[in-house]
Amino acid sequence: MSDLPTTALDIAAAVRAGSVSASEVVEHHLDRIAATDGEIGAFNLVLADEARAAAAAVDAAVAAGRDPGPLAGVPIALKDNLCTRGIPTTCSSRILEGWRPPYDATVVERVAAAGAVAIGKTNLDEFAMGSSTENSAFGPTRNPRDLTRVPGGSSGGSAAAVAAGHAPLSLGSDTGGSIRQPAALCGVVGVKPTYGMVSRYGLVAFASSLDQIGPFATTVADAALLFGVTAGHDGRDSTSIDGPVPDLLGALDHGVEGLRVGLVTELMGEGIAPDVAARVEQAADALRAAGASVEEVSIPAAAYGLSAYYLIAPAEASSNLARYDGVRYGLRVDAATTAEMNAATRTAGFGPEVKRRIMLGTYALSAGYYDAYYGKALKVRTLIMRDFDRAYGQVDLLLTPTSPTTAFRFGEKTDDPMSMYLNDICTIPSNLAGHPAMSVPFGGGADGMPVGVQVLAPALAESVMFRAAAVLERAAPPLDEVWS
Ligand code: GLN
Repeated sequence: MSDLPTTALDIAAAVRAGSVSASEVVEHHLDRIAATDGEIGAFNLVLADEARAAAAAVDAAVAAGRDPGPLAGVPIALKDNLCTRGIPTTCSSRILEGWRPPYDATVVERVAAAGAVAIGKTNLDEFAMGSSTENSAFGPTRNPRDLTRVPGGSSGGSAAAVAAGHAPLSLGSDTGGSIRQPAALCGVVGVKPTYGMVSRYGLVAFASSLDQIGPFATTVADAALLFGVTAGHDGRDSTSIDGPVPDLLGALDHGVEGLRVGLVTELMGEGIAPDVAARVEQAADALRAAGASVEEVSIPAAAYGLSAYYLIAPAEASSNLARYDGVRYGLRVDAATTAEMNAATRTAGFGPEVKRRIMLGTYALSAGYYDAYYGKALKVRTLIMRDFDRAYGQVDLLLTPTSPTTAFRFGEKTDDPMSMYLNDICTIPSNLAGHPAMSVPFGGGADGMPVGVQVLAPALAESVMFRAAAVLERAAPPLDEVWS
């Protein structure tokens, strides 16, 4: 083991100061990947040559007296639904096999411009549909802390890469919890920004009104650093917010003195494992001890969030995925007529969960059922926003579990889609409202696997959210503390 710094902040500082080279840093991480990714399976593709070249360019910049940027020489893993120019981008789907995007996603451009070194493309549930990374066409990713368990999903590869030390940073996407839930299950920090805070340009669309890109890191400060590099207006995404990016690193030391925190009643009872709920209570105590007040708050419509999400997300997905027709991208299965070619391509190219979502969404949008399903779900979405507004009239932040349980075992939930969907019960409301939320590791469950607590904030209130996250990080019990 080398004595290289481990956090992104320390690596970038050392590389910028010239005390460590970006090339050493990248070799160390490529070695780790070579040693352990065979069993973990975090990566669809390791970009060894490209990473070495990018690191050499950073070292050349330092040697020439230029500043390579705030992420100088920091390896970063990219979820394989982020477009990378000339580099396969598969969404872990057969239907995109062989497709190489002609452009980079905005976030990919921004991290490269900040000096980061893209080290690989990470595995995901096909088209980001799932909560365990078992829906990848290329096989599952395993939880680095226990290879018999899932890493969560859909950004399971990005979470596992950071948890395994393959890269100090990674990017994922979160439509209903796909950054926060795998972060919780793997014991790392994961953030879903306010909708519009980070450009979606070059993120392969799942459900456009819910999708956001966000960071994974081992520390709250590293997540703040990556957030700052990726956030900010982008004219190529019409939903991008044209406003200032909060200074999260500057806010981290401000503490929670005088803040009001709400524990969401509906997300602490039935369906939440007792060991997870106990950790959330312990996290609430930690915030109290740091000077915040904690009270119970009700978000009554949260109970219907799951049902609304599983209509809205599939409805948008059925439309977004219509473009995979065998003509424009990747796979084509030839047949006598164009319609038969379309059908044969989609039959062969999409996995069972993606097909289920397309059917659910198409049904919910069909003429006879639109009002009863899609229209109703939109009304529930509005009610959830109102409940949040009411709650935030009373408190500054909300605290919930990130996931109802710790990491489960492979195959445990694959036969029953409903039990898999229930994983997202705590994360979905923030996507429906467009609000930021993040998962912070907070000790272990009865099985010794990591527990994540979720901090939720109103739109654009990331600074307050990160202040609480920093307090929780300092107060977190060690993962190996014996459960009592
Ligand atoms: N697990 C949820 C789903 O399957 C969320 C996925 C995501 O956030 N991309 O839709």
